[in-house]
Amino acid sequence: MIRVTIWNENVHDKEDFIKAIYPNGLHGRLKEIIEQLQDVEVRIATLDQPECGLTDDVLENTDVMLWWGHMAHDEVPDETARKVRDRVLQGMGFIGLHSAHDSKPFKLLMGTSCSLSWREADFERVWTILPGHPIAKGIPDYFELNPEEMYGERFDIPQPDELVFAGWFSGGELMRSGCCWNRGAGKVFYFQPGHESFKSFYNQYVEQIIRNAVLWAAPNCPPQSLCCRPIEKPMKNN
Ligand code: ZN
Repeated sequence: MIRVTIWNENVHDKEDFIKAIYPNGLHGRLKEIIEQLQDVEVRIATLDQPECGLTDDVLENTDVMLWWGHMAHDEVPDETARKVRDRVLQGMGFIGLHSAHDSKPFKLLMGTSCSLSWREADFERVWTILPGHPIAKGIPDYFELNPEEMYGERFDIPQPDELVFAGWFSGGELMRSGCCWNRGAGKVFYFQPGHESFKSFYNQYVEQIIRNAVLWAAPNCPPQSLCCRPIEKPMKNN
């Protein structure tokens, strides 16, 4: 069983033109996508809930967290962002979607500004760079999103441990659009598509990548301690 928490700031989602595309919010659509997996339990957490929906109990009982935020990054308390970061270091998977590049937890995990260049709407061709990677399972050499928001280099991130996808836009811009990092015992994936007013979360390949990422990011060890601990010298084995 993989326990998934989808965190969405749920601000754009209340506007009529977004509701027309995502009637149950971006979080509702992401839930539909992930619930197609076997053996997952999906919880929704939003900014307007007490403690942003991210109580200690929720954090401790989450294996993989997805994060979508844009307008209200600053309204997430620093303390909450630090708790999310620490849970990743202990082993929780973290999937940052689209404008989550500028979210507090993602920037804490990266240690850089995570700034990038952007333009509202463009044509994107997403190239698969590592076809053998678990997140690229079932994804063709490339697929196209039209429209998607242009996010381009330079994207101020630390060098990814694995670059799974790269985006090309009609303006000639490039983007490291699907990146993996190990942070502590946890795995982090950033995926660039997913602008709130476009339909990328209905694209079959985007859906597949999100499901693959959940499976990839799920921890395969118990939560790891973040504290130093004394250890006895192992006995000599005769
Ligand atoms: Zn956007």
